[in-house]
Amino acid sequence: MALKTGDQYLESLEALDLEAHVLGEKTEQLAEHGLIAPSRKAVAFTYDAAHDSQGRELLRSYSRLCNDEVNRFTHLHESSEDLVTKVKMQRYCGAMTGCCFQRCVGLDAANAVYSTTFECDKKHGARFHNRFSDYWKWIQQEDLVVDGAMTDPKGDRGRRPKDQVDPDLFLRVKERRSGGVVINGAKLHQTGMLNSHEILIMPTMGMRPGEEPWAVCCAVPTNATGVRYIYGRQTSDTRKLEQHKLDVGNPIFGGQEVMTVFEDVFVPEERIFLDGQVDFTGMLVERFASYHRQSYGGCKVGVGDVLIGATALIARMNGVEKASHIREKIVEMVHLNETLYSCGLACSSQGWPTLAGNYQVDLLLANVCKLNVTRFPYEIARLATDIAGGLLGTMPAAADLNDPETGPYIKKYLAANPQYQVVDRMKVLRLIENLIAGAGAVGYLIESMHGAGPPAAQRIMIERQAELEYKMRQVINLLSITEQ
Ligand code: SF4
Ligand code: FE
Repeated sequence: MALKTGDQYLESLEALDLEAHVLGEKTEQLAEHGLIAPSRKAVAFTYDAAHDSQGRELLRSYSRLCNDEVNRFTHLHESSEDLVTKVKMQRYCGAMTGCCFQRCVGLDAANAVYSTTFECDKKHGARFHNRFSDYWKWIQQEDLVVDGAMTDPKGDRGRRPKDQVDPDLFLRVKERRSGGVVINGAKLHQTGMLNSHEILIMPTMGMRPGEEPWAVCCAVPTNATGVRYIYGRQTSDTRKLEQHKLDVGNPIFGGQEVMTVFEDVFVPEERIFLDGQVDFTGMLVERFASYHRQSYGGCKVGVGDVLIGATALIARMNGVEKASHIREKIVEMVHLNETLYSCGLACSSQGWPTLAGNYQVDLLLANVCKLNVTRFPYEIARLATDIAGGLLGTMPAAADLNDPETGPYIKKYLAANPQYQVVDRMKVLRLIENLIAGAGAVGYLIESMHGAGPPAAQRIMIERQAELEYKMRQVINLLSITEQ
């Protein structure tokens, strides 16, 4: 199977006939919808990039699983080098689209499920790993998008799944039928869900004995009966529905998050990859989270490149690019962005082979990476706001620029560096606005905080991996301390 192009991907998605509730309306024509089309274009970019001269080196990989060349967004990492290339690919895609391109969650889920099922089978004598390998071979051959679905609503955070008022607040096996199971529940914040062919469902946290119905990992197609989609809002999202693209900020691409409800969805046996093995749920969650924390050391850096580029350009357009405090601030932005990249590369280069043979990132460094991601993009955004100036928050609309009565005044009074037209200055300011306070800020800021788990989750992992006993022992030896 040849690697799909963006157009072939979009056609394959059309064939699924998905529908969703968007801004209160049942919507069937998703491809043309003004909120959805930009997000589909961003995913389509990950297909086209495998064919363009700049991207193909990063986007293509040879898979031992299907013995063929595959899009790296479906690849099972076979070395540390593969992990490093993944991060470089994500930076490239982020820099080219200026948004979340949505395809990494399935990749991260697949790598976690692949290794966890192998170890689970070894202990429990199940056959999940072969099942999953067959499934993923098909994904690679068909070059599909898979939504990795982990985040349950979780209800009252102080209660375990079985103690919730409503047991569906954690997705669960509700019933067993011949040849499969029936699942109920929901997955929130699903990135790119309506741009995906398949959903790979995972438990949201480590389960305990007695919580077997919630220890389920399985896959269903996005058009499975009983799956319902409610589109997530983004800041200033309705600007995408307006006539003038200038006010959108990012005129081509955008992200997507969807609340997804599973109501009596049947999952056939060949798509079940964990079914009650509570002792492997923690491993699955930890491995998935670590891959996704690594991912942010690539994609957020690429989007950071766009924000830094836009900020440097607006400084030039404003005529302040040579001011020493502006140059210092831009250097600071670069320093922060490259620190994130360093973390993404570091946890990848220290990758290690799992028992199944695919490579896992260094857990400590991946968590350090993500904890920095919860902070540095906010500081980069603050510096961008500082440099861009107050016009960022007060600029007239594109419609006023085009109005024969008001347009001349806007052109006269928003003129700055004569090298640039006013309309281009406005475009750059809108792009910055998009990333720091508009639709793009969902991906660049809010997701940087909460995606792949909030900062508290990274701190727990960092503490667990910190080897404090070992570090204290070193000091005890160094100082010849005797413990009583
Ligand atoms: Fe990929 Fe980043 Fe979007 Fe997650 S937030 S899907 S890692 S681009
Ligand atoms: Fe994410």
